[in-house]
Amino acid sequence: MPIKKIVLSEADMPTHWYNINADLPAAGVQLPPPLHPATGQPLGPADLAPLFPMALIEQEVSSERYIEIPEEVQDIYRIWRPTPLFRAYQWEKALDTPAKIYYKYEGTSPAGSHKPNTAVPQAYYNMKEGVKRLSTETGAGQWGSALAFACQMFGIECKVYMVRVSYDQKPYRKLMMQTWGASVVASPSTETNAGRQILAKDPNSTGSLGIAISEAVEDAVMREDTHYALGSVLNHVLLHQTVIGQEVIKQLELAGADWPDVLVGCTGGGSNFGGFTFPFLRENIVNGKQTRVLAVEPAAAPSLTRGVYTYDFGDTAQMTPLLKMHTLGHDFVPAPIHAGGLRYHGMSAQISALKEAKLIEAVNVQQRAIFDAAISFTQCEGILPAPEPSHAIWGAMQEALKCKESGEAKTIVFNLCGHGHFDLASYESYMSGKLVDYDYPEAAIQESLSHLPSFG
Ligand SMILES: *Cc1c(COP(=O)(O)O)cnc(C)c1O
Repeated sequence: MPIKKIVLSEADMPTHWYNINADLPAAGVQLPPPLHPATGQPLGPADLAPLFPMALIEQEVSSERYIEIPEEVQDIYRIWRPTPLFRAYQWEKALDTPAKIYYKYEGTSPAGSHKPNTAVPQAYYNMKEGVKRLSTETGAGQWGSALAFACQMFGIECKVYMVRVSYDQKPYRKLMMQTWGASVVASPSTETNAGRQILAKDPNSTGSLGIAISEAVEDAVMREDTHYALGSVLNHVLLHQTVIGQEVIKQLELAGADWPDVLVGCTGGGSNFGGFTFPFLRENIVNGKQTRVLAVEPAAAPSLTRGVYTYDFGDTAQMTPLLKMHTLGHDFVPAPIHAGGLRYHGMSAQISALKEAKLIEAVNVQQRAIFDAAISFTQCEGILPAPEPSHAIWGAMQEALKCKESGEAKTIVFNLCGHGHFDLASYESYMSGKLVDYDYPEAAIQESLSHLPSFG
């Protein structure tokens, strides 16, 4: 009988995170340092201390290849890890493709996505350093839920600034965070200077991740008892997510599958994509494997495909360090597409450097096409995906259809990084024909890019 679901035992769960920084030099990739937002000089660890615990700052700059996962973190991981890998037999048949399609499913975590993989260690290291409260932003609500859950596990308070458009579209995400004890406010809010300034200019602002990050950072800087937590973009976040790719390698081996020809993931800030693909990229860099690695992003926030590779702020109010990354400009506000987790102006510095070095590829796609793909997938495989991983589903579908043309039986693996149970309003828009595509607002982006910082 063909095996549908490849499961590992808890004993097979990774005990270390994989740090791709150790292997970037072998690929000829340079990671430019983060710069101080006021001086434009390279950041030192002390500059980050008001925001993050020292353990995370060390991981951010570490060049150690494998970093041990603390026992207390592994204990929480075991609630849902290892996660399953599936073979998409029914979908392959419906697509009439000779390709072999596998998907890693991260929707089995308590919060319903990959985000707890980093929320748990972030809450843990803060608790160990005596921090009592974490502030953060959330777009679609996935990160806020994950951090609320993680803070609850380690007995610390959690304050979430939730992007206005999601706050209104997703009341159940808010209730989930509150159930895990977090307090949640719509961003822009009147609780911070950054929020009040935006509201003074635009009282109907739908918000953005860039604005919500400014609010959460300001909250953390203003209070002694509070640190800030970021759910994507930073090196330590992508590091924590590498449990995903390490498990996939073991699972493909267990299934007797071929080494993958193509990996597909969606990119907002790059964390699920990095966590899924980095252990494979190591094989490309070090062991001569030739897997194609494809990032799929929304046409409404196309940082990797149409942004500029330069130093920019991570937030709208210019409070965060400057990262060299693919950016649409820190004050660019993407259209209110349903993949709220992908509405970000920038991209992980690691992913950006890999893209510049042509070690990964990227494409962008409109949201009606991703819902077409999501429906095709869920009607065969049953799992109902969030709009974000539906970008990866769309990408995998294009690859599978190319195989149908060429007759090649390629092995395609994608990351299904979260379920869509809180995204059914977007499915309703799609099914009632109300979902619209957003053209790339070239003029708005050019305007935003004209405000790039002059450092670097
Ligand atoms: C947050 C989120 C994303 C986007 O963030 P990345 O850091 O790019 O992974 C994508 N999918 C889901 C389900 C998310 O929760």
